[in-house]
Amino acid sequence: MNNSSTLNESITSLTGVGTHTASRLHKLGIRTLQDLIFYLPYRYEDRTRIHAIGALSVGMTVLICGKVELVDVLPKGRKALVCRISDGTGFIFLKFFHFNANLHNSLKVGTWLSCFAEVRYGYVGLEMVHPEYRVIADPDSYCPENSLTPVYPLTEGLSQATIRKVVNLALNEAATLHDWIPMPILQRYQYPPLLEAIQTLHAPNETVSIQALQDGSLPALKRLAFEELLSHYLSLKKLKQTAKVWQAPQFTSPTLASSKAHFLRSLAFTLTGAQQRVIAEIEADCQSTHPMMRLVQGDVGSGKTVVSAYAALLALTAGYQVAVMAPTELLAEQHYRNFSAWFAGFQTLVLSLTGQVKGKARAAILQALANGSAGIVVGTHALFQESVQFQRLGLIIIDEQHRFGVHQRMALRDKGQQDGLRPHQLVMTATPIPRTLAMLQYSDLDISIIDELPPNRKPVVTSVIPAERRDGVIDRINHWVAKKRQGYWVCTLIEESEVLQCEAAEKTAELLTLALPTVRVALIHGRMKSAEKDAVMQAFKKHELDLLVATTVIEVGVDVPNAGLMIIENPERLGLAQLHQLRGRVGRGADDSYCLLMYQSPLSEIARQRLGILRDSNDGFVIAEKDLQLRGPGDVMGTRQTGQIHFKVADLARDADLLESIQQIGEQFFSEYPQAVQPLCERWLGDPTDYAEV
Ligand code: ADP
Ligand code: MG
Repeated sequence: MNNSSTLNESITSLTGVGTHTASRLHKLGIRTLQDLIFYLPYRYEDRTRIHAIGALSVGMTVLICGKVELVDVLPKGRKALVCRISDGTGFIFLKFFHFNANLHNSLKVGTWLSCFAEVRYGYVGLEMVHPEYRVIADPDSYCPENSLTPVYPLTEGLSQATIRKVVNLALNEAATLHDWIPMPILQRYQYPPLLEAIQTLHAPNETVSIQALQDGSLPALKRLAFEELLSHYLSLKKLKQTAKVWQAPQFTSPTLASSKAHFLRSLAFTLTGAQQRVIAEIEADCQSTHPMMRLVQGDVGSGKTVVSAYAALLALTAGYQVAVMAPTELLAEQHYRNFSAWFAGFQTLVLSLTGQVKGKARAAILQALANGSAGIVVGTHALFQESVQFQRLGLIIIDEQHRFGVHQRMALRDKGQQDGLRPHQLVMTATPIPRTLAMLQYSDLDISIIDELPPNRKPVVTSVIPAERRDGVIDRINHWVAKKRQGYWVCTLIEESEVLQCEAAEKTAELLTLALPTVRVALIHGRMKSAEKDAVMQAFKKHELDLLVATTVIEVGVDVPNAGLMIIENPERLGLAQLHQLRGRVGRGADDSYCLLMYQSPLSEIARQRLGILRDSNDGFVIAEKDLQLRGPGDVMGTRQTGQIHFKVADLARDADLLESIQQIGEQFFSEYPQAVQPLCERWLGDPTDYAEV
């Protein structure tokens, strides 16, 4: 391997990087020279060209030169030093709110200045506020910079100047950087070599346009994004390959046919074609001697739970235990009830384990799992804990997968390891992911899609209305409840603060209770005790309550068919995927259902378009694709949640075209360039032990 050791040296080996700077850089995840080299700017400033003042428009961030024509201190309002400069093509005002005598003295009428800032619109015309400025002899002798200025993400106590300096020092050592992308591939895509690409991004010369850096069309940027995406693909694929080497229990049993028949007969419905197809895929996996690693994607309400119960049936019949994990207590509770009902006729013990279960009750559950007397346990993260041991864990079911990361998945799997056998894994998600993204994010899994809803579901009628019409909405709840139907009122907040969200919901519940005296209103939020939440949910299910005021805790999985009206406050604050999930709580029965998206005016153009997508479609995949086109993949993939991929260079929306080729090139790497796989993964994903299978 040619990856020179100098690049793995600590940043403290650079002259001028002392403990102070090093500790700041550590905060940014930069420890070695290689880390610095790959620490790329997130934007650029253009000081390579002097702009004519007469041609400026609002919003441009540019370099200008001009002669001071007038200087004044505005005494009115906020005290400010104002100065007008002109270059013969036009004039602009400079405004300084903080100034001292020095500054005042340097801005003399007739002095030439160079200034760099954003152009804004002020009271008397165009202005720059607190520009970066320098007194110059005259514009003809002034030399603009010859490359774009990189701007790096910073942390407190670290300046742009410092990081630019140390990046440059590291770049001086970069000659030994090994390019793991082979020449034929570079040539096929006309990508520059690695070092050149890196240098271009740290110091783009005057031929590079900011536009090409932003829209990702610059070959240097494309190449690095490509390399990064490829590395992620390779690492997940490697994970999948190594997993396939393991042995897993085979779910076969002479009584299988009769238990399957018994199970299907006891259901209140017939499975859809899509459910049957996915079940067959799962069954084939579980009869192989290698662990299943399968993702079931299906829109909200497509009936994933019963599919997973079928998988559980296979495990139980073969004499193995099943762990079902859900992201919230509410959902765990609901699954617990469903599984208990579905397996009532199977003489198997179904248990529930959440963080709330303590003391003796908990000890009893742990014992039943360890000695094998319980067949199924449904729970939350609590199942990850070390004290949880199984006698014969054969299947792990993880619901709403997007909330758990690869590593969490692996932690649970390791629990099941016995006699060299690993449990099968079934993960389910309702977050539709465009195909290209799914291929990358889940390349360690096989994917099944339930692309059909149970029959007789009417689409949810969605309308987008301003909060000014709140009174009308409240009126509508009255009519709705008079028809013996139920509904949800969902409160959202921008802040990730759960406390604030809960407070807002409490207030709304109070107001609605007052405004709707004949409606039975109750509140549910994430800070309530799980027994309280459960009691409210059960009362709502039994129709002892009409309106549930909730935070986004009801986002996943809650299933009450009679609740067919949902009001979502401030929907503009949520991602479309999350809104679609929320809306999936209604439209679960055969009756009409409605979703009112009650936004706060004024609504930005993009927000209006996004809500329009939701109004016009009930198909999660269509929504995800359109959302991706409109605003990038952040919300589609739910970066908010844990366990997501964070890219250094790549932007999944901008670089979507690259994804098409990644899979094919990835396979080529495994067959033709296997020696490059591990170094690429280490370079882009960091700590190799994270992904190594031990
Ligand atoms: P999701 O895929 O969102 O997890 P669920 O598994 O909660 O959906 O199923 C939604 C509802 O549809 C549940 O009430 C479930 O019992 C019901 N259901 C599932 N499959 C069918 C089917 N084939 N026919 C009718 N109803 C079904
Ligand atoms: Mg579900």
